[in-house]
Amino acid sequence: MLAGLLAVSLLRGMPAARVAQGSVAVELPILMYHHLLKESSRHGKYVISPDDFAADLDWLLSQGYETVTVGQVIDWANGRGSLPQKPVMITFDDGYESFYEYAFPILQQRNCKAVLSVIGRYADEYTETEDHHINYSHCTWMQIDELAQSGLVEIQNHSYDLHTYDGEKKGSMKVSGEEVIHYQERLRDDVSRMQSLCEYWCGITPTAFTYPFGSVSAEALPVLKEMGFQAALTCLEEVNYLTGDADQLFSLGRFNRPAGKTAQQILQAQS
Ligand SMILES: [Zn+2]
Repeated sequence: MLAGLLAVSLLRGMPAARVAQGSVAVELPILMYHHLLKESSRHGKYVISPDDFAADLDWLLSQGYETVTVGQVIDWANGRGSLPQKPVMITFDDGYESFYEYAFPILQQRNCKAVLSVIGRYADEYTETEDHHINYSHCTWMQIDELAQSGLVEIQNHSYDLHTYDGEKKGSMKVSGEEVIHYQERLRDDVSRMQSLCEYWCGITPTAFTYPFGSVSAEALPVLKEMGFQAALTCLEEVNYLTGDADQLFSLGRFNRPAGKTAQQILQAQS
């Protein structure tokens, strides 16, 4: 918290680049959401109500927080542009249609930004099928494109089809005993397939990889960098203290926001 206070006081009226070169860190909490549903019987670790999400944003705004995208943080770390005095990042994983239905209008009403990490395989499937139900469907590519063009939602890569756990392969992690070269090829094939789809449908190139289940392998990093990624989102529950070192952006921590624990409770527990 001390670092955060220092950062806030020093950031005031000072170009971010100067802060980046100094030893003062910018405090960046990131919240992680998944699915919004109105029915309370469905709420739990990864499902909360749209009203709770709106209340989180209202509290953050009342405290002077300003929502930022990964792109803004990348730009700042590379000496381009600045960050607000009290940045916070809102992230939604998996690309559920409930983001489009519920979260997007709530963001628009407040002019807040969010990062949506999409799983390519489900975007493909729900673009093809008529079978949509708010309880389980994912966004179509047309919806993702609309979100991307809104200027409020930044689309990021949550793999094409590595969001699975079969008891052996967990997310984008290397399987024990798997040769590094084979692992890296498998990762590259999957992740680049998703990059191409984002380019095809939305005309954008994701800049961050969001590790499925937060499962991180050291061997993934060179592949992600070689593919042009500049950041990665993990599920490590900690506040980020950014010094301006661009490498830090490959291990951004995030707090899961479950039902029954507000953004206020999560962030105040850290101070
Ligand atoms: Zn996920």
